[in-house]
Amino acid sequence: MPDYDYDIGIIGGGAAGLTVASGAAQLGAKTLLIEKEPALGGDCLHHGCVPSKTLIRSAHVYHQMKHAEGFGLPKVEVPPVDFSRIARRIADVIAVIQKHDSEERFCKLGAKVAFGDARFKDDHAVDLDGKTVSAKTWVVATGSSPALPPIPGLDTIDYLTNREIFSLQKLPDSLIVLGGGPIGIEMAQAFNRLGTAVTVVDRADQILGKEDPDMAGAVQAVMESEGVHFYLDASIEGASEAAGKKTVTMKQREGSTVSLTADAVLVAMGRAVNVQDLDLEAAGVTYERTGILVNARLRTSRKHIYAAGDVSGGYQFTHAAGYEGGVVVSNAVFRLPRKVDYTWLPWCTYTDPELASIGMNERAAAEAGIETRVWTEAFADNDRGLAERRTEGRIKLVLDKKEKPLGVQILGPRAGDLISEWVAALNGGVKLSTLAAAIHPYPTLGEISKRVTGSVFSPKIFSETVQKGLQFFFNLKGRACTPEVCEDAGLVSEDG
Ligand SMILES: Cc1cc2nc3c(=O)[nH]c(=O)nc-3n(C[C@H](O)[C@H](O)[C@H](O)COP(=O)(O)OP(=O)(O)OC[C@H]3O[C@@H](n4cnc5c(N)ncnc54)[C@H](O)[C@@H]3O)c2cc1C
Repeated sequence: MPDYDYDIGIIGGGAAGLTVASGAAQLGAKTLLIEKEPALGGDCLHHGCVPSKTLIRSAHVYHQMKHAEGFGLPKVEVPPVDFSRIARRIADVIAVIQKHDSEERFCKLGAKVAFGDARFKDDHAVDLDGKTVSAKTWVVATGSSPALPPIPGLDTIDYLTNREIFSLQKLPDSLIVLGGGPIGIEMAQAFNRLGTAVTVVDRADQILGKEDPDMAGAVQAVMESEGVHFYLDASIEGASEAAGKKTVTMKQREGSTVSLTADAVLVAMGRAVNVQDLDLEAAGVTYERTGILVNARLRTSRKHIYAAGDVSGGYQFTHAAGYEGGVVVSNAVFRLPRKVDYTWLPWCTYTDPELASIGMNERAAAEAGIETRVWTEAFADNDRGLAERRTEGRIKLVLDKKEKPLGVQILGPRAGDLISEWVAALNGGVKLSTLAAAIHPYPTLGEISKRVTGSVFSPKIFSETVQKGLQFFFNLKGRACTPEVCEDAGLVSEDG
């Protein structure tokens, strides 16, 4: 039997790779983790989730300062933002979290961390900056990078991506965001709130293309009310730069051509998987433009080589990458066959209000040919929402025709946290009636989940048939007040 340097080698120190490294090392496997950047943590920590959510928070606070009057507070004249201070705060937050992902921590867990570019030499060995290292099992967890579509002139302008935008030293006066997906939309709202004039361009006719049009439309309406401009259904034809100003030209569906000029352009047009420098051919690993091909156990075309996280092109979220890392550890180290199951994978777009989802929405159910029943409840009817002046948005509970839950979407304040109740309920197979009967603290935004499940049952419980049955069996006397009596007594309000 060949003697390899390591039991398991992992290429990529982001969410997926770190999960595999920590699990494998703690289970006693001789583990090597290779990262090409100077620090562990991957895109999420350095150029993704962490900086974006830190920026969004600063933008939220600034927005609230500007709208203090709505809370019965004095009007405040807020000075303009010094973006370098926000960039410093972002760097500080990253530095704190970086400690959890330090080389030292992984060494203590038992994993060797090596910094450098890895490239396969064959299916068991990689070249690491001129040195050959071998492992019995390999895991490719190299993540993704901003996709750069072939827009004429784009390569001639000084555009921004998620790698540059969080370390700007000056707030741009104006920004064109190319792409109306989660990254583009989160950044568009945050920069607009900080004082940049933002325009979003997308070739689709709705933003956040995976979401139901009504929910995505509600996010767009909020952003428009805050001043963000949208050009949807528009194909980008070219980009150019003159005297530091960037111009983007697009063609709208009805045929007209529009040119926009701004200080900065953010390219957020999807993600390209990081496979190009790995020489996967040398290892016999097959891949497509959308990602490395894996089976349900995350094995590639070479069964001792696994792929996890963004690089396999599935759900490109940190929690998906972490989950897949865990599945790889089960299969590769524990040797317990485990398949991925994304039925109840949640996700959230951190606009304000947030849009969080789990399971199928109406669009996905329709595409799968499933008949649905949809129940909704608005934050405008939630007492905490009213107290906090957070009445925008709603919850949507999507059931099949037998009233089995297919999915839930929440558009509202802290929706990403509120969806967690559904993560537990749906994964645990909790009955809707249990959720409807469970005592929730008052007044909380989370009561909206209880209310929406209650609305599934109340038409049945408070039906005329039940009333009549109870009146018959227990001699109940029926209504003590009727709408006519209310009207005669002048008790009917203007809205009925
Ligand atoms: C702006 C933005 C905001 C986001 N916000 C969220 C969010 O709020 N929530 C969420 O769940 N997800 C979010 N994401 C997505 C999330 O960042 C990714 O899904 C996640 O980072 C994927 O983890 P990964 O381990 O697959 O890849 P990565 O985190 O990208 O890690 C891959 C690592 O591999 C290294 N690498 C690549 N090639 C080589 C090589 N040849 N040799 C050695 N090392 C190599 C890279 O340097 C990198 O460190 C966001 C992404 C962006 C861009």
